Amino acid sequence: MTDTPSNKDPFVAMVTARAEVHLRLGDFQPRSMLCATVHEVSRPKFPAIDYHNHLDAQEPRDVLQIMDQCGIEKIVNITMLTGHAALEMIRKYHTAAPGRFATYGWMDWSDVQSPGFFQRSVERLERLVEHGACGLKIWKDLGTTVKYADGTLLRIDDPRLDSLYEKAAELSVPIMYHIADPDAFFLPIDAANERYEELAAHPEWSYYGSHYGKRDLLAQRDRVIARHPKTTFVGAHVAEHPEDLAYVSNLLDKNPNLQVDISARCAELGRQPYTAREFFLKYADRILFGTDLIPEVQMYRLHYRFLETRDEYFEYPSHASRQGRWNIYGLFLPDDVLRKVYRNNALRLLAKH
Ligand SMILES: [Zn+2]
Repeated sequence: MTDTPSNKDPFVAMVTARAEVHLRLGDFQPRSMLCATVHEVSRPKFPAIDYHNHLDAQEPRDVLQIMDQCGIEKIVNITMLTGHAALEMIRKYHTAAPGRFATYGWMDWSDVQSPGFFQRSVERLERLVEHGACGLKIWKDLGTTVKYADGTLLRIDDPRLDSLYEKAAELSVPIMYHIADPDAFFLPIDAANERYEELAAHPEWSYYGSHYGKRDLLAQRDRVIARHPKTTFVGAHVAEHPEDLAYVSNLLDKNPNLQVDISARCAELGRQPYTAREFFLKYADRILFGTDLIPEVQMYRLHYRFLETRDEYFEYPSHASRQGRWNIYGLFLPDDVLRKVYRNNALRLLAKH
């Protein structure tokens, strides 16, 4: 007797049948048949501060229009420009609408191979803050591509950067870290990768095959945060580890100087709503609303729906290539938590600027 479905028991045949079809992954766009309640939230319950965005390519008046429509009080523009261009960008936004924009500077590595770089970095931070910057962003090129003249990588926890962090504490400006990326970016881009489509669209985002691992990158970052208790750090994207909120909780417990933003991570948080809700309730004073997406009405509204409603199984805000084939669940956060996450935690960091 051969083992084909036709001569199996009909029930066994039914439960063991598998689809053998060819359909392009990008063409598979199923629509959910779930009859779930939909709450469109057009404005946040409290005025919101988007603490993580990039507006260099936008015009202030266009952004303001979206902000007014969506109840966004203020956006923190993390400029990706350096030098004089960064100072110009600060001026452009701050004069266009005083009080509606704040600006983070971007770490300038362009002359890392020239003597005196570390002292120059301290002076650059001073100059940025003099011109109105409210923080400094350090991106994942540190630890992965930034190299000394001799070709060796600059480590995230290189002690020569300590003076920069001390200066940030002295000036009362936070350092925002975006070190590492989603866990799946460190795995092969194959059929088992939960971000297959995203990585297929952006193969350059993959770390697979490189000699550094995510655990090591985060460990280097975590050492710096622990070494500088007087410096305020913002861990962008839920400190890069929303897949493991126990890790992030532990990091927050150990380091009172650390805050996290939720930018570009609704997908991760919203697929684990029970754990995420507990996380928000426990760390309500340490979580910042941020988006890291082009300002658009629907983008902001999906965030409000995620944070405020108990809607089930809906799309998360994302860039075009999406982050994974799943939907999210609302966290129905209480008012006191929403007030802190949307606004008060950011105001505290912005208070001196
Ligand atoms: Zn960003």
